[in-house]
Amino acid sequence: MQATADHALERAWEVLESVPDPEIPVVSIRELGILRDVRRADDGQIEVIITPTYSGCPAMSQIAEDVAHALDAAALAPYRIATTLTPAWTTDWITDEAREKLRAYGIAPPTGNCGFAPQSAEQPITFIAKPKPKPLPAPACPHCGSQHTERLAQFGSTACKALYRCIDCREPFDYFKPY
Ligand SMILES: [Zn+2]
Repeated sequence: MQATADHALERAWEVLESVPDPEIPVVSIRELGILRDVRRADDGQIEVIITPTYSGCPAMSQIAEDVAHALDAAALAPYRIATTLTPAWTTDWITDEAREKLRAYGIAPPTGNCGFAPQSAEQPITFIAKPKPKPLPAPACPHCGSQHTERLAQFGSTACKALYRCIDCREPFDYFKPY
């Protein structure tokens, strides 16, 4: 019965939309763009597509586990969880509401995009030294909004973040690096 099947799929979306990110529990994996799709595979099984964030982010196996727990709790088995690497995850997939939540949580959301967008195929070949990547604009302080911030460390509490400090209010904060 098609109607029943659709209900299960809707329910799966519902429970998965509230699965929090294991590292930043104020935002969900859907809001971060990690949860890509929940669909019926050709064999009728529910298939959940997730895309890892930064390669090697150790949170990924935790996320798959959390997804499985949520589906089990909602009695939605059988299902399968597939990881897809293409298209690669980028911080551009983080929703606006999630950026707000990150800021409220004390993490500066990524500014702009990653800055290493794929080059056009028509790019002429030149033999000059590779230009240094343009420094990204400093993230605004999530506490007071000041643009006057400095980087303390390339890596913050996790590899995905850098540690910054606000020069005005002196508060340190994590910056979710654009990627
Ligand atoms: Zn500040």
